[in-house]
Amino acid sequence: MKQFIVGPVEMYPSTKRVLEKGYTYFRTQEYGDMVKECLSKVSEMLGAKNSTTIYLAASGTGAMDAVVDNCMRGVNKGGNDKALVINGGSFGHRFCELLQWYKVDYDSINLEWNEVVSAKDLEPYENKGYTALFVNLDETSSGKLYDIRLISDFCKRNGMYLIVDAISTFLADDYDMERYGIDVTIISSQKGLCLSPGMSIVSFSQRMVEKINKEGQPNSYYFDFKSYFRNIDRGQTPFTTTVSTMYELKDMLGLIEKTGGRDKWIEQVQEKAKYFREKAKSAGLNIPDYPKSATLTPLYFEDISASEVVKELRERYELFVNPCGGKMADRLLRVAHIGNTTKEDIDELLDKLVLSIKEIKERGCIGVI
Ligand SMILES: *Cc1c(COP(=O)(O)O)cnc(C)c1O
Repeated sequence: MKQFIVGPVEMYPSTKRVLEKGYTYFRTQEYGDMVKECLSKVSEMLGAKNSTTIYLAASGTGAMDAVVDNCMRGVNKGGNDKALVINGGSFGHRFCELLQWYKVDYDSINLEWNEVVSAKDLEPYENKGYTALFVNLDETSSGKLYDIRLISDFCKRNGMYLIVDAISTFLADDYDMERYGIDVTIISSQKGLCLSPGMSIVSFSQRMVEKINKEGQPNSYYFDFKSYFRNIDRGQTPFTTTVSTMYELKDMLGLIEKTGGRDKWIEQVQEKAKYFREKAKSAGLNIPDYPKSATLTPLYFEDISASEVVKELRERYELFVNPCGGKMADRLLRVAHIGNTTKEDIDELLDKLVLSIKEIKERGCIGVI
């Protein structure tokens, strides 16, 4: 059984074994020191040495929810925040739903599944009083990677906060909070970091920390960031936290260091993506040509159902790839390149992909006759 899904991904053996060694009670200085060291390394990998970085016991969506709740003040709460969302798929749509949930004014740039945001798309929103832009830098639902330079320049020009869901781009593509003036970065454990699901990490620019500290209470009691900021100085959290996942993170950071550091790690993910894409193309598979994250490769099917290919791979060969939801379910599937998979695994997947397609087509022909 091999997972080529975006997350939770195939974990590395040493990370899986971490808990066999046992762990320290989390309200100790020893644990707090470990947290501080780990989060400082993650901040550095995010290009955010001067940021404040916290972690939450929540999957990525929990962190997106808490970020909207803590970082945005709508008119209903005496604030003047007005957000702009790049909505190019199900994760962009999630930001829209959250802003609506918390009654923050917003507009969205709605894109088709295979469209990335362009300068022309942004033009109508210049100087219109928006205070923040939300983007899922890799829109995982189709694997497209937006142009961070374009988005960053737009935000700087318009004096807007830039809030990035980097959950599926982190450790697969280049990323730099300070260079691009990013105010909030959200990542989570089960994607590029290859850890168990359930832990998110959120990194803030100092001006966003000040905004949050200055403004009133969020709706959530559990996710009041002001309390997380106070506690993280000692490597602590207000409540019981994802202790085991933090130990996994420590192990994983060691593995990344041993590999040669962040850039080397990203290079290896990108190599896997390139290897898969080249071989897939020569096998006649159809890869959409929009800019893509190295996290995953989408495959487009016209004459057979993509969801049937996903099912065939799973049921016949115990190979797991990501199906797509909604109206793309029959057209698109996604193959992830993050996690503990090798080129040999990719070779096997491609063999079985080609076989599955052939079998489905043959069955289809028999059906027609
Ligand atoms: C995986 C993912 C999330 C988080 O989803 P959860 O199921 O809540 O972990 C959010 N945004 C993007 C872009 C993702 O890829």
